[in-house]
Amino acid sequence: MFAAFVAATLVPAFAAAAENPAGERGEAAYAERMALYRSVAALTDVPWTRLAAVDQFARSLQKKRSDGPIAFRFPPPLWAGPTNPDPEDTDPRTIALFGGLGRDGDGDGFADQRSPLDVLLVLAERLRDAGNDWPQAVAELYPSDKDRMILKAFEALYAAFGRLDLFDTAFVVDRRRPYSYTNTWGQPRGFGGRRFHEGADIFAPYGTPVRSATYGVVEVAGWNVYGGWRVGIRDLNNIYYYYAHLSGFAPGVRPGKIVRPGEVIGYVGSSGYGPPGTQGKFPPHLHFGMYKYDGRREWAFDPTPHLRRFERLEREKARPRERTGP
Ligand SMILES: [Zn+2]
Repeated sequence: MFAAFVAATLVPAFAAAAENPAGERGEAAYAERMALYRSVAALTDVPWTRLAAVDQFARSLQKKRSDGPIAFRFPPPLWAGPTNPDPEDTDPRTIALFGGLGRDGDGDGFADQRSPLDVLLVLAERLRDAGNDWPQAVAELYPSDKDRMILKAFEALYAAFGRLDLFDTAFVVDRRRPYSYTNTWGQPRGFGGRRFHEGADIFAPYGTPVRSATYGVVEVAGWNVYGGWRVGIRDLNNIYYYYAHLSGFAPGVRPGKIVRPGEVIGYVGSSGYGPPGTQGKFPPHLHFGMYKYDGRREWAFDPTPHLRRFERLEREKARPRERTGP
């Protein structure tokens, strides 16, 4: 039990690496990336939102940030050609000879995946050929139904907001109401056998509005034997946020709905630990969980430091004059 706790507490570094780079450098990086997507979209008639979705999906699975504005890469044998003796080949003639995908998109004479236009042009042409089933264009890398679902969710997010900078956060309950939480990550839980507490409990009165921490797409909204009425939302870092024990959902909250940080998704309750409708087996609270998808599975990590960060950022935003005034 203790070993599992220690291993799990190491995970937040993974999620933190994917956080939004704040400030001007972040803004310039988004502008540069958007200009690349838009120029390739104009050349190929593929919506920039699909290029952005594939690229962000690749970025969200990286353990370490790659250099350059574009994270997506084809597997080297696919780019250079499966029988090419040099999988790092950048010569468009030999790549063509071995049936590789690699092309020179920026006119420098090389077909090099480190050149954003080279890799984006090849990606865009494959996306165009795949039509409505566009995730099929990257099925070699992202083969599962889940990957396909997430790629489409990312595209929907970009289409809904028309920009790349979708990493603002909000605290998960209305801060004008009373609430409290302490770090309960890893504590044992009795119901349903011996379980590890995969989240944080925020105690608040019945009916307190529960808010999405991030921009995201609702993936799940319904009953679960442990979580009761619960909502699952995925953000562009491929982090899945789990809000459980609700007394009810906000209107329109169902799978596929796009949400923004601070948007009310439901209300604090005490549902769960039984068949649909069970409530009152414990005091009302929001159970909040965070899970990182690594391309194969979702793994839980301690959300408590993230709750503290959401809370601090929101407090700072609420009184900008106090910080910057004379
Ligand atoms: Zn809990």
